[in-house]
Amino acid sequence: MSHRPALQKEITSLLESIAFRGEVRFEEPLAGHTTFRIGGPAAAMLSPAGPEETVALVVALRRRGLPYRVIGNGSNLLVSDRGVRAAVIKTRPALDRLAAADNLIEAGAGCLLSRLCRFAAKSGLSGLEFLAGIPGTVGGAVVMNAGWGGKSTGEAVESVSFLDPSGRVRRRKASRCGFGYRASRFRKSGEIVLSAVFRGRSDDPGKISGRMTGILAERKASFPGSLPGAGSVFKNPPGDFAGRLIEKAGLKGKRIGGAGISPRHANFIVNRGGAGSEDVLRLIELARERVAADFGKRLELEIEYWPPGGGRGSRNVPTGKNK
Ligand SMILES: Cc1cc2nc3c(=O)[nH]c(=O)nc-3n(C[C@H](O)[C@H](O)[C@H](O)COP(=O)(O)OP(=O)(O)OC[C@H]3O[C@@H](n4cnc5c(N)ncnc54)[C@H](O)[C@@H]3O)c2cc1C
Repeated sequence: MSHRPALQKEITSLLESIAFRGEVRFEEPLAGHTTFRIGGPAAAMLSPAGPEETVALVVALRRRGLPYRVIGNGSNLLVSDRGVRAAVIKTRPALDRLAAADNLIEAGAGCLLSRLCRFAAKSGLSGLEFLAGIPGTVGGAVVMNAGWGGKSTGEAVESVSFLDPSGRVRRRKASRCGFGYRASRFRKSGEIVLSAVFRGRSDDPGKISGRMTGILAERKASFPGSLPGAGSVFKNPPGDFAGRLIEKAGLKGKRIGGAGISPRHANFIVNRGGAGSEDVLRLIELARERVAADFGKRLELEIEYWPPGGGRGSRNVPTGKNK
């Protein structure tokens, strides 16, 4: 007997109590919301109408102790085929705002990085070129400290506005956001990123666009085609490259079920068609075991795995994040 209907009743009652404005979809398959194209249903997918509705929703979910998770563009996620017993809050389009003043851009957490990059170029602000081509949202990029070519989000950010666990909207300077290699304090704190202020330098819009086009071409040449995936699966261990180690362990091109380690870049796992979360998890375990046995190195996940349970705010279920 599924426990979902009970949770859905609680979510419905909560939405009524706050006169929720936005879109609600029960049993929404998350495969349609992740770049891996993998993932079972969310108990409910909630897309609030705007920032105020997002804050009110999260505050209400916390107050009632109902499990929830936040999703940006789902480009760094592997979701269990069994789905998640939680409300999944989508930041797009609710938090998709952009504004420029002086040499600063304030971008909502639900804004796609591609849109932010186009806006920066048009506004004549240089410094965000390295984000071109990363298929995430501003929120996801802040949480993951996403980066490319030696630069990362935290270096371009001035401050981050977020919702703290007590339901207060606060702003924190970048130096206090705990940015590190594919890490930030938001990855563990349960705080929800609402927007970020990026700092740029004035430059010619044509030159900025030209540099972005160059980065997109570089990325295209080094990335494994167009099969669904979630980018680099593992973080690079200190002084080495996860892809090099997996390749040396003889796993390039290895397939399990519908998933495969890319024959072009061994740190990418791709969905070759019909892959399930178990296929990907088995490849992850295999790569870890072989790299540990052959080189004595431990591979740490860069992607996030959402196991079939509740999320933040759950009463009974551990968060299961960053496993
Ligand atoms: C083809 C491809 C190429 C990629 N290239 C790169 C690359 O060059 N560099 C790189 O760093 N990454 C890369 N990635 C990974 C991914 O795009 C980045 O990590 C991106 O920043 C994730 O953003 P998202 O909006 O998709 O986050 P999601 O995948 O939706 O979420 C990631 C995590 O952040 C949390 N989260 C999202 N939004 C918020 C919020 N507003 N508040 C609190 N928590 C939130 C989620 O709960 C989840 O835990 C690539 C992925 C793909 C598929």
